[in-house]
Amino acid sequence: MQLKSLVAILPFFLAVAATPVQQATCSNGRTTANAQCCVWFDVLDDIQENLFDGGECGEEVHESLRLTFHDAIGFSELLKLQGKFGGGGADGSIMHFSDIETAFPANNGVDDIVDAQRPFAIKHQVSFGDFIQFAGAVGVSNCPGAPRLEFLAGRSNVTKPSPPDLVPEPQDSVVKILARMADATFSPNELVALLASHSVAAQDHVDPIIHGSPFDSTPGLFDTQFYIETLLQGDVIPGPDGLQVGEVQSPLQGELRLQSDGALARHPITACEWQSFVNDQSRMATKFRAAMSKMAILGQKRSALIDCSDVIPVPKPNAKTPSLPAGKTMHDIEKSCLIKPFPTLSADPGPETSVNPVPPS
Ligand code: CA
Ligand code: CA
Repeated sequence: MQLKSLVAILPFFLAVAATPVQQATCSNGRTTANAQCCVWFDVLDDIQENLFDGGECGEEVHESLRLTFHDAIGFSELLKLQGKFGGGGADGSIMHFSDIETAFPANNGVDDIVDAQRPFAIKHQVSFGDFIQFAGAVGVSNCPGAPRLEFLAGRSNVTKPSPPDLVPEPQDSVVKILARMADATFSPNELVALLASHSVAAQDHVDPIIHGSPFDSTPGLFDTQFYIETLLQGDVIPGPDGLQVGEVQSPLQGELRLQSDGALARHPITACEWQSFVNDQSRMATKFRAAMSKMAILGQKRSALIDCSDVIPVPKPNAKTPSLPAGKTMHDIEKSCLIKPFPTLSADPGPETSVNPVPPS
């Protein structure tokens, strides 16, 4: 093309680039970049009120975030290479075929949130795969400090059950977990980032007697405490019935440490990425968002989906400074990254921290 004609075309491209994006107006005057996203405002209103108890960062949020992973991780490159069905990833299969998938041992207890969510998806006529990722993104937006997650809509409602044994379990070794995640296309660093979800999480089924025991002392905040507290020396058996499968000693009364979290925090492959989040909320949130964007479309084609991220609420910031729980000192940190100094943290004032269970709603 001659330079002259290029110059002639240039103003046209500039004019196109400058055209403002058409906004669609949806219910209650809210706007989105794509009219097909309007339905998600109605879903948003409904689940904030009727699933998340008016916009709390509580048990249903924890469970909804967990479900995003348990649906999506049903994806295997290896099985695909072997010519078998490797799972549809973030395809809603865990809701379609809940009788099959919630019977997998690693999905123990997931049936409650599947049953709680399904009527909303049916009522609003959205696909199960879309709904699960939307509920996770909206849910975590209720937790101060969380990033505003990407949400893409348009997953098909036609799929098959996930093959078994694709969901990692807390008693699995680090090597086994990293291999499973690699088979689902995730790097060790991306796994460490995904585990920020454990900053707003609690367990019900690893140790059922201490139902609702969280993984850090601030389960209502999307903060870095999870990465700090998993590195504290564990000297507490939180339940009256001893340690259960997948559970190791925790540092605080009322807090539960998964064996896998404790091991990943200390493993040479993952320890430095783990430590990098200890006092860096922004890094944690950014990396979590990127890893969640990838996970939410596992098995899907990004180009076939519509970006409805502007429906997701903007989370409040987390005002809490990273700290050691009251009663702990830097000597309690089991520093595991050998190539970088550990950031100095001060301890919260007051008597030794004990953690309350997350109340069932
Ligand atoms: Ca799935
Ligand atoms: Ca937390």
